[in-house]
Amino acid sequence: MKLCLPKGTKDILPDQIHLWQKAERVFAEVCEQYGFSEIRIPTFEHTDVFERGVGNATDVVRKEMYTFEDKGGRSITLRPEGTAGVVRSFIENGMGSLPSPVKLFYNITAFRYEKMQKGRYREFHQFGVEAFGSSGPEIDAEIISLLCTFFERVGIAQTRLCINSIGCPACRPTYHVALKDYFADKVSDMCEDCKARYDINPQRMIDCKEERCKPFVANAPRQIEYLCSDCRTHLSGLEKCLSSLDIKYKIDPSIVRGLDYYTRTVFEFVSDHVGTQGTICGGGRYDRLVETMGGPSVPGIGFAMGVERFLMEAASQGVSLAERVPVNLCLVHMSESAYDQVFRLAHRLRRAGIACEVDLMGRSFRAQMKYANKLGIPYMMVIGDDEIASGMAKIKRMIDGIEVEVRLDDLPEQASIFMNESTKEN
Ligand code: ATP
Ligand code: MG
Repeated sequence: MKLCLPKGTKDILPDQIHLWQKAERVFAEVCEQYGFSEIRIPTFEHTDVFERGVGNATDVVRKEMYTFEDKGGRSITLRPEGTAGVVRSFIENGMGSLPSPVKLFYNITAFRYEKMQKGRYREFHQFGVEAFGSSGPEIDAEIISLLCTFFERVGIAQTRLCINSIGCPACRPTYHVALKDYFADKVSDMCEDCKARYDINPQRMIDCKEERCKPFVANAPRQIEYLCSDCRTHLSGLEKCLSSLDIKYKIDPSIVRGLDYYTRTVFEFVSDHVGTQGTICGGGRYDRLVETMGGPSVPGIGFAMGVERFLMEAASQGVSLAERVPVNLCLVHMSESAYDQVFRLAHRLRRAGIACEVDLMGRSFRAQMKYANKLGIPYMMVIGDDEIASGMAKIKRMIDGIEVEVRLDDLPEQASIFMNESTKEN
């Protein structure tokens, strides 16, 4: 049988990897400028971390988790997202006693058993942040502005930013009553999931993606009309911060992250280029999550961005993240004795930080030249017995044939001076 990838996974091949590396580097850089520190959490956790941290009523937990029993009989789950694991780590490591807010970022793979679609995989990547300890709207604005800075730094135009408030335990019960009233005579015509959501958490019905449910959902009451005065103040505080930072946003009452411990601010960056749902990034405030998972009563807020969807957006905006460090210099040898010398020169060049290539295939002189051409290596240096005898050799810039003669003893320094200067001229 031919071996192949499992459905929903992919290889990221060398011709794509520089896109990922650049996105990862810029994301880390921007997070650090905003005072976030990186955290690395395990790929798998005890299943109850996600059952409690993501919530039993969510599609992620009900249908999408990769859960298995390990050889010790424990129920283990591959992380479907980052927040629950970060919160588990926050509690387990007593981070509640660190100066607040505690600001963390991560770059992870996540696993969800989902139907494959454009922008939807079973193994995918997320960049995310979580900030603990601050309950004001300023930190909500700060993490949104972090995202805007990230988009700007990689050179893509900000996609639509939609924000909403999903209330708090004080105002939500009244809203749930209004929702139940509204759906009471409709739920029997809705999908099986919505029938279950009606009893567990009717707010999640707002998020239903089924065609048959959409017309019912379209006219349903919205949480934003039922906010208590504290939630309204928080939302207008966030709006004020975003406006003063010149960040464009729209209030979209249909955004729901219907978990009991999600509170107030929710937001999404949405695009038309990344598949059916179009969400590149989703975030929200979870003031009760840490407590629900057994920690202190500490508010939190975070987001997760789908890296695949972000890269799709960058590509569709025609933004090149290309930044590959090319191999700069090819050392071509003309004889057996020169080969030995070339090998040592390459070692010296690389130790000095200069990227170079030597023949590793036993190629003839002509074949080495052809290989260097094919790779588009911009500088070439030919070493034969004459060069070894004189201790001098020429570095040639392939694009126009300009050459400079260098002493082999001073090779790393002289090569880098010539290549840097002539690259600048170009
Ligand atoms: P969706 O509505 O698209 O299913 P979600 O609400 O399940 O998204 P979150 O849990 O908020 O997604 O995850 C944050 C981000 O991770 C999403 O906005 C998206 O960019 C990305 N993401 C989620 N699921 C997948 C997946 N299966 N494949 C690729 N990216 C994903
Ligand atoms: Mg999903």
